Amino acid sequence: MWKKTITNSTLMALLVMGLSVSNVQAQAPEVQEPSSEADMQAALSGGVPGGRWKEGLMFEGIRPQPWLQSAANWFPGTEDVQPEEMRITFMGTAPLIRPGQMNTSIFVELGNGDNFVFDIGEGSIANYQGARVALNQLTKVFITHLHVDHFGALPYLWMFRTWNGGWHEPLEVFGPSGRTPEYGTEKMVEGMKMMTGWHRDAFSVFPVGSGWDIKVHEFDYADNGGVIYDRNGVTVKHWQRSHAKDGASAYRLDWNGMCFVWTGDGRPSKLDEKYAKGCDVYVTELQTELVEIGSGVQGVPPFLARYTIDTHHTPAYAAGYLANKVQPRMFMTTHTNFDPYQNEETVAQVRYHWKGPYHFGFPDGVVVNVTKDSIWVREGILPDYPNARSPQFDFSNGQLVVPHPPTSRAEIQNEWIREQQLDPTVYYPEDYMPELLEDWPVEGDLVVPVEVLPEKLKESMGAAWEHKVKNTEALEEQESSEKN
Ligand SMILES: [Zn+2]
Ligand SMILES: [Zn+2]
Repeated sequence: MWKKTITNSTLMALLVMGLSVSNVQAQAPEVQEPSSEADMQAALSGGVPGGRWKEGLMFEGIRPQPWLQSAANWFPGTEDVQPEEMRITFMGTAPLIRPGQMNTSIFVELGNGDNFVFDIGEGSIANYQGARVALNQLTKVFITHLHVDHFGALPYLWMFRTWNGGWHEPLEVFGPSGRTPEYGTEKMVEGMKMMTGWHRDAFSVFPVGSGWDIKVHEFDYADNGGVIYDRNGVTVKHWQRSHAKDGASAYRLDWNGMCFVWTGDGRPSKLDEKYAKGCDVYVTELQTELVEIGSGVQGVPPFLARYTIDTHHTPAYAAGYLANKVQPRMFMTTHTNFDPYQNEETVAQVRYHWKGPYHFGFPDGVVVNVTKDSIWVREGILPDYPNARSPQFDFSNGQLVVPHPPTSRAEIQNEWIREQQLDPTVYYPEDYMPELLEDWPVEGDLVVPVEVLPEKLKESMGAAWEHKVKNTEALEEQESSEKN
């Protein structure tokens, strides 16, 4: 009945009341007499294990660091790598590519501003984009071996990082030699050059600078323990893996008293134990011992799965066995399908030998924050439809330099096909005719003093460089205070 007589103004009043009721709920309660100290103590310390993050089967030193925006999830672009920190992100985690799991790639960022790509499997670039890494920030790729699930995205990275700002630093590729020269990393890159011939010439209408100068560091796969990288306080060593064919390697990166190992693929071996010993974060690949059931689920015949594991891979039991020998602060496994039917089983098999800290390095987007006294593993939230981060430039010279494109359309395309292009005035609206940029607008390199750059461009393209400068200063300050 009352509904019929309700007026707009009473309805409005009801709505306002409703709003103000919820406002009241958000207000602070009235001031009261404080509880007794004993009561406060009992409640506030109840259920908290004496200030240490050790509960249940958790381990000493496994706890979220204070600067994390959320202890539950990592959101790209919301946390700077701290001066003393190593941050590891799993950008591709399975040999069988599928929408939630790209082929293997592990990204290691250091507090000194350096970053390292370990393997660059097919599709993993999508996750780098999602993680807001500009492709021209990726300059060093370490390939464990030349199975395509470990380097398939290299051509894409090379082409598109060059296009969008990879103009001043050539891409460096580190990888093993082969049993004979035709099976080495050098030869693979030569083949990639051939494969991308059209693409590179076509993209040479852009300001590519030295982007096409790819630098290959091929090392002797049999030189176990050899140091293949030593710059800026960072070293990378390698050793052989038994992976059906000579030329498969594992890597160990050391920096700032912390260490990361990625074994790549291979059978468990004595060398892993020797060279990974005591490393902080030990990551190996893993195959769960579920050959018959697993075959039914994954669509791989059991004999093929069994033979593949026994000639190429690390069974979960062996992964746990090695972890127990290596004794890392955090053990992680990757290169494994993230499937509910086998996840618990994987843990149980690893746990047979290894009782210490253990996390999956899968599915894609798992993030590991590492410092000397704490390690925390989270799920990263990677968007499905991210856009690229602006290319990042080092502005220490006070300039943005855009190289002159090495070629032009006129040089690589027949004029006739350009003449067949529609006259833009037929499709643009009458009152809208953009000024087209059909030819590169400047002669020679374009050199723009940073102060002339629009503020937004300067901020977005110089962010990584500024972060690096800030962290480097903090590290230097710390070093000098340690000396005093
Ligand atoms: Zn693989
Ligand atoms: Zn492999």
